Amino acid sequence: MRKIILSNGQTVEVECLSCALTSGVMEPDAQVITETEYFHAHQDVAYPIKGLVILASKRHFTSFDEMTEEEKMDYITVLTKIRKAQRNVLGIEYVYYFYNEDTTHHFHTWMVPRYEWMYQFGRSIESVRPVLLHARNEMNTKEHNEEIREAIQKLRKELTKM
Ligand SMILES: [Zn+2]
Repeated sequence: MRKIILSNGQTVEVECLSCALTSGVMEPDAQVITETEYFHAHQDVAYPIKGLVILASKRHFTSFDEMTEEEKMDYITVLTKIRKAQRNVLGIEYVYYFYNEDTTHHFHTWMVPRYEWMYQFGRSIESVRPVLLHARNEMNTKEHNEEIREAIQKLRKELTKM
């Protein structure tokens, strides 16, 4: 079990963070962008990067090859819709996708948009970790958080149209 402190100060104990997120236990900390039968997309507000999306399965499993046929279809459909929405309403040109299977969470894909300001942290995939740390440690300002909330609203609205 892991102890998590929610933004409202409440402490909860969960077996798996992704289960807690997709089932709504942690709703206050996760800004939901879209939901399908098998997946749940949100912005982790701890990383205030506009258009960063975490797409998590609702079912608890860890590896790609554990997906059912229905989950596979749902996954690629919702992933591409989110990508399109990022392009349409936020003008995001490039996205980095990653998922590691040796996680204490369950299946979730990070979609990290690439912005000009990230070049100071490296050219390509090497910049992702420093960018995330920079966002978490230096960008948690009122201004950025406002921007993030706006981006979430835009993505959510666009996705309901698809
Ligand atoms: Zn889980």
